[in-house]
Amino acid sequence: MVRELSHYVDGQRVDGTSGRFGDVFDPCSGQVQARVPLAGRDEVANAVANAEKAQVAWGAMNPQRRGRILLKFVELVNANMDELATLLSKEHGKTFADSKGDIQRGIEVVEFAAGAPHLLKGEFSDAGGIDVHSVRQPLGVVAGITPFNFPAMIPLWKSGPALAAGNAFILKPSERDPSVPLRLAELFTEAGVPDGVFNVVNGDKEAVDALLEDPRVKAVGFVGSTPIAQYIYSTAAAHGKRAQCFGGAKNHMVIMPDADLEMAADALIGSGYGSAGERCMAISVAVPVGEETANKLVATLQERVKALKVGPSLEPDSDFGPVVTAAAKERIEGYIQSGIDDGATLLADGRGLEVDGHEGGFWVGPTLFDHVTKDMAIYREEIFGPVLSVLRAPDYEEALRLCTDHEYGNGVAIFTRDGDAARDFANRVQVGMVGVNVPIPVPIAYYTFGGWKASGFGDLNQHGPDAFRFYTKTKTITTRWPSGIRSGASFIMPEGS
Ligand code: NAD
Repeated sequence: MVRELSHYVDGQRVDGTSGRFGDVFDPCSGQVQARVPLAGRDEVANAVANAEKAQVAWGAMNPQRRGRILLKFVELVNANMDELATLLSKEHGKTFADSKGDIQRGIEVVEFAAGAPHLLKGEFSDAGGIDVHSVRQPLGVVAGITPFNFPAMIPLWKSGPALAAGNAFILKPSERDPSVPLRLAELFTEAGVPDGVFNVVNGDKEAVDALLEDPRVKAVGFVGSTPIAQYIYSTAAAHGKRAQCFGGAKNHMVIMPDADLEMAADALIGSGYGSAGERCMAISVAVPVGEETANKLVATLQERVKALKVGPSLEPDSDFGPVVTAAAKERIEGYIQSGIDDGATLLADGRGLEVDGHEGGFWVGPTLFDHVTKDMAIYREEIFGPVLSVLRAPDYEEALRLCTDHEYGNGVAIFTRDGDAARDFANRVQVGMVGVNVPIPVPIAYYTFGGWKASGFGDLNQHGPDAFRFYTKTKTITTRWPSGIRSGASFIMPEGS
């Protein structure tokens, strides 16, 4: 039975009226499980109008009260964790435990954002008889456009700080897995977020363009692939909006000769194949330094890959589930073929995997390439699937250069026991987030998250203090009170002395 999904506007679910729908698949069976309405321009305009009205009182509310409502939301998410994680796994395909992690990393940012009274504080100076102070004010209506791979975490990274700062929020989630965002909207309402302050408009390019072009939308936060990030960034700027747009990735892990190879292999298996490689912080390139390190590492990886279990998302012993769509499976398999054609050594081939009882599912098994080189497409481009490439570096400087020269600069890791090497690497590498013996260095909520180069467009990062800078505008107020001293009109520019 195919469910029909809705939008969420003004505190309730509303049916789509455009007559256009997208299919939401069950990636474990390949069957369509729901239809999601794709909003037209008038539906977007209506949501924005409601949000604009609702924002006035929300923005004027004491931020501590807003924070309290957000903490209530966190409590409700925790109370409904299993239901949300099940829903997430069924549409995305990641395992139940991994779905819980997706939700957990999202609510950690909402918990951080509940500290809004502190994060919104301005500055004050007594400038010798003149008082100067600054305040941070909400922008008004802001929008978030989010990818399929973290349907809870990224909407919450965007909306938590935006709401805490007093904005109204329109979420345009991925059309691949919209059910969790819709449930989160209901929980926001249940927690006490006023109607119209948090809205979900489902859709595709048409809805996104309507948000980008609407002058009432003051800022757009985007996460997704690099070509779309660039499009959103430039279109938002052309319409006078603030934008932060995070794109694709190709994350390297450098394994130094002194590293604990067992630990490094565990880290590579978990970060390369977890969530079927559909994470922007997945490690997709292992760079062992020196032939001896490479030979030992590859032998260990080969053994571990054989033991991996790919299976249905809700079965507890599955290490990872299917990829999100048939198109994703086809793209990933195309890359595997291109690696073979380009001369890489295929040590494990994930193509043609069948899972008993789930024959139509979008399965791709763990794939391992050795002797990958810089010119190959499987190295240069983001595959976004369970494919790990080993690119052997003769020395540390070459390993560092590979990470720095790559077009993408989201995350990177070094595995070593040498503090000097780790410090040098962290200082010199041109990548936004660095892990030292940590494979997926996603910063905790009170630091900021953001990649460099083709992985991020815009000046400010997600979550942490940057999120409050992004979702507020600073107003500076200069005050003088009558003191009885009158100096008459002055026609020269006031200056500091
Ligand atoms: P995507 O770019 O296809 O879609 C992202 C969003 O943009 C969706 O809401 C989609 O509806 C919308 N969109 C798609 N095409 C559009 C168009 N032509 N015009 C306007 N809007 C459009 O990305 P995806 O496949 O959902 O997600 C995977 C990508 O996201 C990967 O590249 C991954 O690396 C990236 N990602 C990056 C980060 C990060 O923080 N850097 C985090 C997670 C995912």
